[in-house]
Amino acid sequence: MKILLIYPPFCSPSSMPHSISYIKSYLSQSFDIKIKCLDLNAKFNKSRFKEIYSQKYSSEVLTEFDKISRPVYAHNNKLVIQKKSPELFEEMLTLIKKESPDLVAFSLVYNSQCFYTQALIEELKRLNIPTLIGGPAVNHNIYNLSTFLVDEHQFAEYLEKNFNLTRTIPKEVIPDFSDYNPNDYLTKEIVIPLRTSHSCYYKQCSFCTHHQSQNYREVPLELIKKTIIKSGYKNVSFFDDMISKKRLLELAEILKPLKVKWWCQLRPSKELLGSFKILYDSGLRSISWGVESGNQRILDLMCKGTNVEDISKVLKESHEVKIKNLVFIIIGFPTETKEELMDSIHFVEKNFNYIDLISTSRFGLQRGSKVFLNPKEYGITEIKEKSRTILDDQITYKVKSGMTPEEVKKYHHRYLRSFVKVNKIPKIYNYFKEQTILL
Ligand code: SF4
Repeated sequence: MKILLIYPPFCSPSSMPHSISYIKSYLSQSFDIKIKCLDLNAKFNKSRFKEIYSQKYSSEVLTEFDKISRPVYAHNNKLVIQKKSPELFEEMLTLIKKESPDLVAFSLVYNSQCFYTQALIEELKRLNIPTLIGGPAVNHNIYNLSTFLVDEHQFAEYLEKNFNLTRTIPKEVIPDFSDYNPNDYLTKEIVIPLRTSHSCYYKQCSFCTHHQSQNYREVPLELIKKTIIKSGYKNVSFFDDMISKKRLLELAEILKPLKVKWWCQLRPSKELLGSFKILYDSGLRSISWGVESGNQRILDLMCKGTNVEDISKVLKESHEVKIKNLVFIIIGFPTETKEELMDSIHFVEKNFNYIDLISTSRFGLQRGSKVFLNPKEYGITEIKEKSRTILDDQITYKVKSGMTPEEVKKYHHRYLRSFVKVNKIPKIYNYFKEQTILL
């Protein structure tokens, strides 16, 4: 029996996928079967944007790629909605058929992967090749297309039940990146994605659903070390939504002797003060910070558990040891006033010297978040959901005070320059954040 694990188009082709690399390792140890990972996203991008891949890596090339790939992705998504084949469809299908799989499983991490996946699943159905789907981007529209499995455990149970296979319990699940061709990726050097934990130990931020209310559990440090050594790569992006100070220091200890460079995402809380030198010495070169706002009332409403003054101290100390600071700001949290938005701009200006790159986004109401579940507490008077063909329902809302969603859009556009003028590195790296460790 052979299973093909697919990472479908479209998302940034800068990094090998973690999800299917992990599943491959888990299933290979559970069953005596053949399993292969196929990164169709990287294959599509390399084939469709040959002229970009043939150029020497630079921020200009990444910028050009971003400019020309966006309309191509949008056009292809439209084709799928119109029930037409997207570009390179036969080529992608040939890559699947070449493997003669008995079962094809798709991992959907980003919403933008839903469209091409739909077209592939429909075609595989016609060819009588069974399919499975999983991942955080599976929505109720995609859910109806194929059998949905929550995680690797359900996957193993499914194989046991439907293919009469005998299962053994895996000992060491180490993501396996060996099926990918490094030349398929748009990067100067390969940066492997790893997680140090599942879910988030903090889970308080009122806008967030990333942790999906799951229990926090840590990946054993020894496994992280073995994964890096086995991969043979020297750059790592830890994509956990958040890592605690205790865990960061433990990581630093195992990473220092490996001589790797690494990136991670953190909440700028004062507990981190005093640890940046140790982290830099272990290879930490760039951090994406969930700063979110420069106004204390908004930070408190978001339940960030951070303080504007402490955030400045954290950014300063991180900068002083030469770690790059990438800062996220959310604009238009419900009830935020224009004056409070100006506080975020003033915060960024005040901390100009310590910020390398700013990423701003407008607040989006997420189903299942504290704000969605308790709208009145956040001044939301009405929530509307509009169904879409392939993506999940579009959520809109009205607020009783502060900027309206229309004003948020207007001011975001108007004040974007005030934010991005602090950038010291090209803004394209907001879409290739992990590559900032290579700069
Ligand atoms: S925003 Fe980050 S720190 Fe806050 S709950 Fe979500 S994952 Fe955790």
